[in-house]
Amino acid sequence: MKKITLIKGDGIGKEISQSVIDIFNAIKVPVEFEEKFAGLECFEKFGTALPQDTLDSIKRNKIALKGPTTTPIGGGHKSVNVTIRKSLELFANLRPSKTLPGINTRFGNVDIVVIRENIEDTYGAIEHMQTPDVAQTLRIITYQGSYMIHSFAFQYAIKNNRKKVTCVHKANIQKMSDGLFLKTFKEISQNYPYIKTEDIIVDNLCMQLVTNPERFDVLVLPNIFGDIVSDLCAGLVGGLGVAPSANIGRNIAVFEPVHGSAPDIAGKNIANPTAFILSSIMMLKYIGLDSYAKIIEQTLFNTLKNGIFTKDLQGNYSTSEFTQNIIKEINDLSKTTKLIDDCLISDNQLTKSMNEEIESINPPKNTPSNDWNIAGLDVFIEWNDIDNLPEIPKNYKKFELKMISNRGTKIYPPPIPEILMVNWYRCRYISTQPVNYQDVLEFLSVITEKNIKWMHIEVLRKYNDIEMFSKAQGED
Ligand code: ATP
Repeated sequence: MKKITLIKGDGIGKEISQSVIDIFNAIKVPVEFEEKFAGLECFEKFGTALPQDTLDSIKRNKIALKGPTTTPIGGGHKSVNVTIRKSLELFANLRPSKTLPGINTRFGNVDIVVIRENIEDTYGAIEHMQTPDVAQTLRIITYQGSYMIHSFAFQYAIKNNRKKVTCVHKANIQKMSDGLFLKTFKEISQNYPYIKTEDIIVDNLCMQLVTNPERFDVLVLPNIFGDIVSDLCAGLVGGLGVAPSANIGRNIAVFEPVHGSAPDIAGKNIANPTAFILSSIMMLKYIGLDSYAKIIEQTLFNTLKNGIFTKDLQGNYSTSEFTQNIIKEINDLSKTTKLIDDCLISDNQLTKSMNEEIESINPPKNTPSNDWNIAGLDVFIEWNDIDNLPEIPKNYKKFELKMISNRGTKIYPPPIPEILMVNWYRCRYISTQPVNYQDVLEFLSVITEKNIKWMHIEVLRKYNDIEMFSKAQGED
């Protein structure tokens, strides 16, 4: 019997978990749940939102079914979801949005799979307060991370008979980070000439998704865009109540609904358990229990077809009534077929899971930067005399001041645009002769002697950086 870690989570988590447990019991799915705790309630009880014991259980069982966990906004403990994804290297987040039977939506034939990079991007949580008024988040995209997610997207497309993979990005503005994501997509796509490919800028994608979603098949996106776009896609097929997801790593996976803990409706027995049931179906398919997955899917679809809806879908069935209806469908089905025997026979021929494909994805080694030089410096400073430019050297030995920007807008060389300025400046120096790290230190000590508060420097390691910057100016 396959052991699975079950985390019920916060808010509506207990109610929707009960649905899945009742359905699994009705059909006697050959799995055993090992219940573990995580989330806000767990934090309040045990002082940690993600106990080591829970993480160890997932590592041991390799599969978890996870309910929603509350993430405090603007402070509090770290997101449990993000910590699980990162500690278990669950690099791919799979979020299918498919038109469901019986649910009346604006578009009739949506079948989109969002594949979201799950580790990098702004989710590195590399954030700083640079001044009391200025916050910074670093957006990290790597070649290796992009290589993994794009390879996964193509492998997924092949295994699931998908025809097209669309890379979503903002490489017209984030020329380096999204540029690297897109460039890697093009590189990987060369290995899959029989899959159609295209790329699209994320804002254009959003417009097309709400006008012509049927034209999309598999979307592959960096983390933050994937998060936002997958909620949009969920809205196309009936909302968060019907949106499942899987977090997939090497030989390990965590299945969870896209929605959060919905504190506004918790404890009222009105939550829609469909997203969690669909997540559990994805899990059963992943572990090769396809026939059980199919029966749950069929009986869930019958229930929806019969107009049995919870409140979020304008119905008046409670969570438990909805669940009981699925169980009734299962019981009806077992009167006409040898349900369980059939399941066991077909499941003896386990379908090849994504694991084998993932095993074959090997991220490339680091590219050495031996031929890179120090091309300049970006020095970030606080300067409180807003009416006058910072008193920094225009030239110092091998460094020449090229540009100053405030809130990302160029204010030097003149003309100074009429913009709202704050006491935070980025000063870009380029090197006029070859420089080394000693030169950088000397330059910083000159600035420090002038009592200029600097909070961050970026060593520009290739002339490319500077060209990229000037190209990015003026676009929105
Ligand atoms: P979190 O920060 O945990 O994501 P949130 O409140 O921002 O929490 P959700 O919990 O996903 O986001 O809820 C967004 C809205 O969708 C809420 O109004 C909630 O009631 C509704 N909702 C979410 N999940 C369900 C569900 N399974 N059934 C019915 N309504 C739901």
